[in-house]
Amino acid sequence: MLYTLSFCTKESNKDQKVFQKKAAHKTQGKNIKKEFTFRFYAELNDFLSPERKQKPFLQAFKTPISVRETLESIGIPLSEVDMILVNEKAVDFEHQLREGDFISVYPVFESLDITPVTKARKTPLRDPCFVLDAHLGKLAKYLRMLGFDTLYRPDIDDDEIISVSKKEKRIILTRDKLLLKSKEVSHGYFVRAIDKHEQLNEVIKKFDLYSKFNSFTRCMTCNAELIPKKKEEIAGKINPETAQFFNEFYYCPHCDKVFWKGSHFERMEKQILSLIT
Ligand SMILES: [Zn+2]
Repeated sequence: MLYTLSFCTKESNKDQKVFQKKAAHKTQGKNIKKEFTFRFYAELNDFLSPERKQKPFLQAFKTPISVRETLESIGIPLSEVDMILVNEKAVDFEHQLREGDFISVYPVFESLDITPVTKARKTPLRDPCFVLDAHLGKLAKYLRMLGFDTLYRPDIDDDEIISVSKKEKRIILTRDKLLLKSKEVSHGYFVRAIDKHEQLNEVIKKFDLYSKFNSFTRCMTCNAELIPKKKEEIAGKINPETAQFFNEFYYCPHCDKVFWKGSHFERMEKQILSLIT
């Protein structure tokens, strides 16, 4: 982590001198707009046009202007931003920019501890519970299977996603960039992968969930927590053959269903775990 950050800072150091000179030169005269240099790192480049990706670029804004206003105007969802450096000093979204400033913007490094230098958000995103948009049904099932509290309904709309995210401190996972650009969203992540297996892999990596797997604790259908039951407690709900071969049972109080770790579950678990690299 330290290596990554110091590498990025070193790079921006060099860029900074060149661009500050350019900015100062260009803004001499009667131009009322002031120029600033921006550099976005890692996956934040997904929100930029090709000519702006992975390199510093100049953009002029009328001043006074805050970091928040410039990022919104450039099209970066604030929920994806975790650290902002202005001339190498960490600042928050409300920081007022001055002519010639060099702004380096880093994505949410959920898996990395950068708390000491993070100012963009007061409380880091550490609680792995989620609300998913209507297109991520399969991903929701997989996350539930691994034990993660995952809210999903095929008919959920954007307003509900945002309100439940705020109320229950859930991280929004979505394939909709517009949703993340809402000012109401503070905890959100744009899922890049399209394939459901790759989506799971991406989310687990992004939020460093490896040590938090807790399989068979949550209903894959409704997200309710499963309750371990003894065989005699659920005797009327399973067929005699199942009762003969299995001893561990789990009950979903919401769906009124009983589950057990049969071959189907084991096959699926193996398959899912093999996908996570
Ligand atoms: Zn259920």
